Amino acid sequence: MRKISIIGSTGSIGRQALEVLERLQDKFEIIALAGGSNTDLLLQQVEKFRPKYVSSDKYDVRLANISGVKYLPDGLEEICSNKAENDIILVAVSGKIGLKPTLTAIENGIDIALANKETLVMAGDIVMKKAREKGVKILPVDSEHSAIHQCIKEREQVRKLIITASGGPFLKKSVDEMRNATVAEALAHPKWNMGRKITVDSATLMNKGLEIIEAHHLFNIDYDDIDVIVHPQSVVHSAIEYKDGSVIAQLGVPSMHIPIQYAITYPERYEGIKTQSFSFSDVARMDFEKPDFDKFPSLNYAYGAGKKGGSATTSLNAINEEAVFAFLRGEIKLCKIYDLIESLMPKCTFIQEPTIDEIFELDHEARKLTQKSLTL
Ligand code: MG
Repeated sequence: MRKISIIGSTGSIGRQALEVLERLQDKFEIIALAGGSNTDLLLQQVEKFRPKYVSSDKYDVRLANISGVKYLPDGLEEICSNKAENDIILVAVSGKIGLKPTLTAIENGIDIALANKETLVMAGDIVMKKAREKGVKILPVDSEHSAIHQCIKEREQVRKLIITASGGPFLKKSVDEMRNATVAEALAHPKWNMGRKITVDSATLMNKGLEIIEAHHLFNIDYDDIDVIVHPQSVVHSAIEYKDGSVIAQLGVPSMHIPIQYAITYPERYEGIKTQSFSFSDVARMDFEKPDFDKFPSLNYAYGAGKKGGSATTSLNAINEEAVFAFLRGEIKLCKIYDLIESLMPKCTFIQEPTIDEIFELDHEARKLTQKSLTL
């Protein structure tokens, strides 16, 4: 039995992970479930899966009263330092709150299934260095990175990574339609069913930008050797090219169950949730096109910040996250997210080799700058 905890069990990835685990009950023991403020759902999950520990951001007396389950209010650090009882921790929270528990788990030598890309965007150098020191595996849950992970056999022979992007809901819409998009339009993703923050990031293509940075850290590859290609059907989840010109891609129906399962069962494979075989004839056609960097400048921001390195990607992530929250609150138009990044990035303090404390300070600074310009 592999022992697993889930940080962010009530979010989109966490819920799908529990669907995977329900089918793999004889392979996994669930040690802890940690949720945010949706304690109704967390309570249902605890009653169904009976973990040893439960944690929530918001205190809920009902969680404290479940017999046989220990309640750790605000217990992420405690869960992630429990090496004795955890083989792997799935970090499935969204945003900057994923970084600290991930670092704690690495520090304690616990393998990570990482769905939280902000962890690597904020502090990829520190996180990967620490993981190498501790011999900890960082197993990607993000579908593109899972695809690359599945394709790579001979890392030294790889010429480049090719990350696919669905293009989001505005691929075929005009710049004006995108500029004036409502929250509902931005949240209507054509292919992937995900949380709200990442769905807005997909609409602006910032999600792909963050994934470029994530790939750079996970696979230790130069930004110049990472390409993005728009592929609206989302069947090819990403590919790698070897130096002899051979290209290996990973394909499948667009379902997060597959990369979640692969990350937590690696290197084993088990029967999946969707048991029907993949059908090339059902797919019928696959289209590929270059991304429009003028319409979606987020890719330029990501390559720019990534190549600059240091704290640049920390600031980029923080401005973007605050801007997306403002958009979701209905305070700004979608394209204001780009404007904020462009105007505020030069104002952020830059440190080439920040410590983890400096990363949190610079994250805070970028968020303050963003909030301040929102109220102007
Ligand atoms: Mg992805």
